[in-house]
Amino acid sequence: MSADAQPASVVIVGAGQGGYQTAASLRERGYRGRVTLISAEDTLPYERPPLSKAHLKATGQAQGDEQLWLRPATYYVRQSIDLVGGTVTGIDPAARTVRLGDGSRYDYGHLVLATGARPRTLDVPGAGLRGVHTLRTARDAAALRASLAAAQYAVVVGAGFLGLECAAAARESGRAVTVVEALDRPLARALSARTAEHFTRLHRREGTRLLFGERVVALRGDRNGNVASVELADGRRLPADLVVIGVGVTPRTELAEAAGLPVGDGVTVDARLLTGDPCISAIGDCAAFPQVRSGKRLRLESVQNAVGHARLVAERLTGAPRAHYEELPWFWSDQFGTTVQIAPSPPTCAGT
Ligand code: FAD
Repeated sequence: MSADAQPASVVIVGAGQGGYQTAASLRERGYRGRVTLISAEDTLPYERPPLSKAHLKATGQAQGDEQLWLRPATYYVRQSIDLVGGTVTGIDPAARTVRLGDGSRYDYGHLVLATGARPRTLDVPGAGLRGVHTLRTARDAAALRASLAAAQYAVVVGAGFLGLECAAAARESGRAVTVVEALDRPLARALSARTAEHFTRLHRREGTRLLFGERVVALRGDRNGNVASVELADGRRLPADLVVIGVGVTPRTELAEAAGLPVGDGVTVDARLLTGDPCISAIGDCAAFPQVRSGKRLRLESVQNAVGHARLVAERLTGAPRAHYEELPWFWSDQFGTTVQIAPSPPTCAGT
């Protein structure tokens, strides 16, 4: 089948931001074939950004998953989107089927990989202690929120967006907070030194301790297996009954790799988001795509990117192919009541 022909069925692996949007955009564009959205998580598709922001604060009202849902359950029924719970464990590109952990199989005319990413962990002693958290899913957020409610001393490892947002939520919840970053400033991957300085000042003004150029070598526990301190390379120990690891993510490429598709830092796709197989696309956090302007291969982790990718694939599958994906990336973050929007041209900071 040619990549631009309308397939009789579309199977989407991963029901996060990109997977949901692919299904929704297909229906918005009048696609009448079968749409199957397969989710490894036991909740309806939801948005992740609140997980490190309002949703996390121990001082706020406890929130249920339903407040995060992108759509209620009735939406999927009305739109004839088959939501299937389970983990896809294999793809057979020759037979055009995917296999789930429970042995069931789904045939596809076109397959969309929207598998996202998983948080990196720290490769140090004590990383498995109770009270040490990563944050990707609603379930992670519930566990982190419970730990935060009981914590006094929070240490956040990594001063990227996720780490700083968690630090802000912990500080606003009244905890003593220390952020430890291996580089010499926060947000080094995303922002200029000048804009990053804004965040350094913001957090210090709110009473958060920021340590730059410091490496965590171990997490130490008490006799009950709860984290008690964070040990730095110079031997200092920071008291901690809650540790958040925010040191980035790894794209989930294992399905693509096992199916013989090219992968690098993400599933390798062309400018139309097609993998090496014309019947398989990859989108969102898991996809490494060529940016037309710079000629560089990019993998972005943002809602805008996942949604934009999903729309492009839906257009292609409904007979309106675009030559390439070329939206300008942008991102936002909320910290201490300040919303910051970041775009490639001069960034804008808007206090809210
Ligand atoms: P995901 O939303 O991660 O969805 C992937 C889904 O695929 C997951 O549900 C996963 O379980 C499932 N899956 C994986 N493998 C399989 C399999 N084999 N079988 C079945 N299912 C599978 N972006 C912003 O733009 N602004 C923000 O402020 C912001 N804040 C964020 C805060 C947090 C805490 C997090 C975690 C992310 C944040 N992001 C933010 C990033 C944004 O949420 C992601 O870029 C976006 O969710 C990516 O969408 P995706 O569909 O590619 O992946």
